[in-house]
Amino acid sequence: MRYTLEKLKKEGEDILRMAGSSRNLEVVRERLFRRITRYQFDVFDEVNRPSASSIVRVRDCTRAMRSIISPESDRMAGFSVVKALYDIAHDKNRPDLQPGFYAELIHIIKGMQGRSKEKAPADIARIRTKSGRKAAIARSRELDKIWVYAQERMSRYEDGMMASAIKRRLARKNKICRVLGASDEDWYNWRWQIKNVITKLEPLEKLVPLSAEEKENIKAATNARLPFGVLPYYLSLMDNNKRGGDRCLRAQVFPPANYVKEMAANRGRRECAFDFMLEQDTSPIDYITRRYPAIAILKPYNTCPQICVYCQRNWEIERVMSRDAIAPSEKINLALDWIAEHPAIHELLITGGDPFALNNRTIDRILARVAKIKAIEHIRIGTRTPVTVPMRITEELVDTLKKYIVPGRRDISIVTHVEHPYEVTPDMALAVRRLRKAGMLVFNQQVYTFYVSRRFESALLRKVLRKIGIEPYYTFNTKGKNETLDYIVPIARLLQELNEEARLLPGLTRTDEAVYNVPGLGKSYLRARQHRDLVSILPNGARVYEFHPWDKKIYEQRNYVGTDVPILDYLNRLKSIGENPDDYETIWYFY
Ligand code: SF4
Repeated sequence: MRYTLEKLKKEGEDILRMAGSSRNLEVVRERLFRRITRYQFDVFDEVNRPSASSIVRVRDCTRAMRSIISPESDRMAGFSVVKALYDIAHDKNRPDLQPGFYAELIHIIKGMQGRSKEKAPADIARIRTKSGRKAAIARSRELDKIWVYAQERMSRYEDGMMASAIKRRLARKNKICRVLGASDEDWYNWRWQIKNVITKLEPLEKLVPLSAEEKENIKAATNARLPFGVLPYYLSLMDNNKRGGDRCLRAQVFPPANYVKEMAANRGRRECAFDFMLEQDTSPIDYITRRYPAIAILKPYNTCPQICVYCQRNWEIERVMSRDAIAPSEKINLALDWIAEHPAIHELLITGGDPFALNNRTIDRILARVAKIKAIEHIRIGTRTPVTVPMRITEELVDTLKKYIVPGRRDISIVTHVEHPYEVTPDMALAVRRLRKAGMLVFNQQVYTFYVSRRFESALLRKVLRKIGIEPYYTFNTKGKNETLDYIVPIARLLQELNEEARLLPGLTRTDEAVYNVPGLGKSYLRARQHRDLVSILPNGARVYEFHPWDKKIYEQRNYVGTDVPILDYLNRLKSIGENPDDYETIWYFY
């Protein structure tokens, strides 16, 4: 559908007529408020009772509109939807308004009036009048149909456990070994992998086919001395640029032009430009971050064997595997002394950077100190090595870790970061099995980027993860600002995925929470409606949300107002990679 001013005038005729006959903005506001209440009341109609899905849409859209039209929302967003409607109704030229804005308004108006017709994947089920066994059999047939649909959608994506992917990767591995002069023994040695991390275009272009754009961006990134590095093992997961199955993998490590431009331009003032999570405001002592009562973060090593473009700590990582990134042991001791002085903290997340890039001796030393802190009952280690260099999970490392597991007293969990089913490999499965055999649970945190957001793409990830023993834990919005615009997905898509695709999976497969990380305040659970309000739609169609801190109910806290990416832009991007935007139509009704 094309979203134009004419289309809005047609679909929003009633509301615009009302705005046109109002003498000023405050009158429009009041009349809109009354009209919204009327729409809400209309669903009580016993005679022409709307469908259940229509009632839900009316509820959600009226709630969103009620919030948008308040004067306080205008103030927070620095823009007034009511004024835009008033101007349109009075034929005033508003060149600032774009198709994304019209699209949002058209959907919200149709939703409020119970006229939206879009269907979710599970909507193929129909209400039947049967009862008892007959009803159960009919329902079972419908459920079969829903699952066949989900399965068919998931089968569009390849996962890395498929024989075809394993075969291709073996060929790539052999090529990489040949070019780098490595043996099989070298390949399975994590130290060799880390020592041979590729940080330059040369020899990268000899190992994996690169597009002209990728080459140019990598060159620009390394010239600007932005952190860049890809491990040989991870390169072996990439294709020949023909199938596109590795799109997500490439996007994780090969920086796009916009990222290079923004990061290079702001190099001198990274702290203020990119510290999206306001880490500096939540660090009471060097190497510690604390945002919650019972858990703190220790960051002993501030870099990784491989750098993710969208990393929330991209502003503080200097170089891949930089020696300077290791915290001095006396500073780690001071940080742990501080933890010991705060017995409210009984869980410690050791992350970074990647702590498993440290050697076993250093890890052992840190854990031995942590084990002395009485209050610490849970140790969580954040590492991406099972994905980027699974050979790091050696028997020796596992033996080092398991010494500190004392049933009933202290446990250790591993939190990793698998983005896409195509990253899952037999090597990763082996690493996870080792950890689990030693008594550690392994969880996953996915960053919900554009490159994992097609219909059922992340549903497949959850399915594959469960099969190798990883439990989905969080699905995060992509953090960042201008530098990661290529990656950010509208909040509405996370909500749609959670409510439509993930909902079709068994409970133990959809254990993850969709989360929006609020700068300085921490996680806002998107499932919890009370944690946010939609406050406006900007002229380009971007939604503005007000996030309420998780502890607002306990004491007064600042709110956070954040701007999302426009849904229409997102749908157009999906179209550019071969998706049908109609498959995503219900996205407009998640707020
Ligand atoms: S593994 Fe984690 S810490 Fe390291 S670069 Fe990626 S997102 Fe950042």
